[in-house]
Formats: sequence, C-alpha cells, structure tokens
Amino acid sequence: MKSRILYTKPSITELEVRYATDAAANGWGDKCYEYINKFEDLFKQHLGVQYAIATSSCTGALHMGMAALGIGPGDEVIMADTNWIATASPIVNLGAKPVFVDILSDSWCIDPEKAEAAITPNTKAIVAVHLYGNLCDMDRLLAIGKKYGIPVIEDAAEAIGSVYHGKRAGSMGKFGSFSFHGTKTLTTGEGGMFVTNDADLFERVLTLSNHGRARGQTKQFWPDLIGFKYKMSNLQAAIGCAQLERIHDLIARKREILAFYRERLNGLSCISLNPEPLGIENGAWMPTVVFSNESSITREKLQIAFAEENADARVFFWPLSGLSIFPAVRSNHHAWDIPSRAINLPSYHDISEEDLARVAAVVISLV
Ligand SMILES: *Cc1c(COP(=O)(O)O)cnc(C)c1O
Repeated sequence: MKSRILYTKPSITELEVRYATDAAANGWGDKCYEYINKFEDLFKQHLGVQYAIATSSCTGALHMGMAALGIGPGDEVIMADTNWIATASPIVNLGAKPVFVDILSDSWCIDPEKAEAAITPNTKAIVAVHLYGNLCDMDRLLAIGKKYGIPVIEDAAEAIGSVYHGKRAGSMGKFGSFSFHGTKTLTTGEGGMFVTNDADLFERVLTLSNHGRARGQTKQFWPDLIGFKYKMSNLQAAIGCAQLERIHDLIARKREILAFYRERLNGLSCISLNPEPLGIENGAWMPTVVFSNESSITREKLQIAFAEENADARVFFWPLSGLSIFPAVRSNHHAWDIPSRAINLPSYHDISEEDLARVAAVVISLV
C-alpha cells in the first residue's frame, strides 16, 4: 500500500507548543486575555486594518458582523452559489435570505454583473468570498456597493495571504472575516477573526461579542442588548500568536506548492489552476484543478484515480442552491457545472516534493 497523502494538516512547530504551554500554565487570572490581545494586535498589523476581534469561528464573526449591520427578517444578502455553507448559515439564522448568484469561470468567485442584477430594495449586503485564495473582483464589487449604498462584506476565510493590488484580502470591505479552522493556512484549531476599519461597526460588534455588554457600561453584569458568545480562548490565541509570527513562511509554502503544481500541470491545455492575474497575489490556500468540458474527465474519474494513489481528493464545493435545504438556482451555470470536472489537490505545508510529484502524476495520467 502506498503511503497516504493527506489533503490538509496544520503546520505546528515548537513555537506553537511553547506558547500554548505557557498559556496553559500561566495564562489565567489577570493574564487571561494576554495572548488574545496580542493575537488581535498582530493580526491588525499583518492585515493593515484598524480593528480586530478574535472569535471562536469565522461563522461567528460573520454572524455578529451581519447582525451589527442590522440584517434581519425580510432582508436579502447576495453571495456566490459556490461556497461553503458557513457563509450562508448566519444569513439564514438572522432570518434573512441568501440570494445565490453565479461565479466567473476563471476565478470561481462571484460574478459582479450577476450580483448587480440580483439587487432588489431588500438587498442589505453583498458577500465577496475569495474562493480557495482566488480574489474576487473587488474594484467592481465595491463600485456596485457604492452605487447602490450596499455594504460589501469580505469572507476571507480562505484568503489569508492573498493580496489585491497591494491590499490584503479582508481589509477592503465593510468588514472582513477569517477562519483558523484546522484546515486553513493559519490555524488555532478552531477560531476566527472579525476585522474592520469602521469605528462604529467595531463598537457594535464588540458589544455584541460580549453578550451585549457595552464597553462604557459601568454596571457589572448589565447587558444592554441580546448579544452573542463567540469568543476565542487565550489558549487558542497563544497558538495563533505563534502562527502569526510564522505567517510569511506559512503563506510562502502554500504559494510554493501551487507553483509546483503549476509547473507540472500548466502545460496541459485541458486544465486550469487557481489564477493569479496581474496585480494579484494568490494566497494559494487550496490548489485546485478544473478540467475543460471537452476533456470528459469527471469528478468521479478523478476521485477513483486519487483513491488508487492513496491521495486525498476533496471535491470542489457543490452549489449551495443544489443542496436540499435551498431552492435550486439552475441558471447559475458555472456554479453547477464546474464542480463536476474539478478537484482540490493536497497542499499541507509539510508535504514532500515526492508526494507533490505523485499527485501531479495522477492528474497527468488522466489526460
Ligand atoms: C472555512 C470557511 C468558513 C467557516 O469557518 P469556521 O471557522 O469553520 O466557521 C467560512 N467561509 C469560508 C469561505 C470558509 O472556507
């Protein structure tokens, strides 16, 4: 049996272990927020934003941010049909409706024209999800948001390390959200971050994140409104601080892995990989191959070939509107079509060159 190739695995060094050990031994009492505060500060510096709130997940960050924008029953939020459920569930949980629009065939991110066409008087936000590290067309989306007075939210869970014309993913919208789930480029096990440059929005989310207790409230145990409890623990933040000290290496390795696949596979005319157009750096969270329609190579063929090599193959996100929990939007052509001829490639930091070559060889063998 060939050795198994995992598709993701966190990169954990002695530094993470040292900080986590210190937090477990000493991070209590008056030190119980030390790593959290440090993690938020380092993250703000890395991203170039003014405000950050560490959370227990990206889903939690989105939920609070959307609640703070006043999204509620009767409202609509426009997002790409191609996505993980985590971006849609806070919308539904707030009583609003996710409106799924198609993606672009090259970036696999939301099609700005389709987003604009979906705007109604009930539209309260557009969510830009930078899929697999690929960047949305932020100039177009922000222009549309401005034209209609609708905030653009950036779900940058998959895009730490992605840079759009000098600006980091997550720093351009009304607010941004990040995930530090174990599969992501930077991990705290579970965890997330809310970021914004909007002082009022920050105050509202800070209050919501603290069970509705405002910073200025002098009475103890006195919530002014119903909030949330989506906090990150000091232990998780300790691991996050170590990961942030290594962030440039973590991103560089992801990009190196994508470059390896590009070098091996880009010569094949029937496939495309994560794009990196001029002015853009792709954080390369998840290298992905999409085969052309003419190739007749399907997800099922790919899954069988990867299984034979004992390599994990992760399917491209199903269209959310294809799930039984939402009405189908079959006119979202690319979102429904691309997953049937695509696969995510293994890309964890410590993967060996030999295993990368094995993965590339599986793809090449199918052509
Ligand atoms: C991973 C992911 C999330 C969810 O992150 P959690 O931390 O698990 O809540 C949200 N959106 C996108 C696009 C993701 O990839």
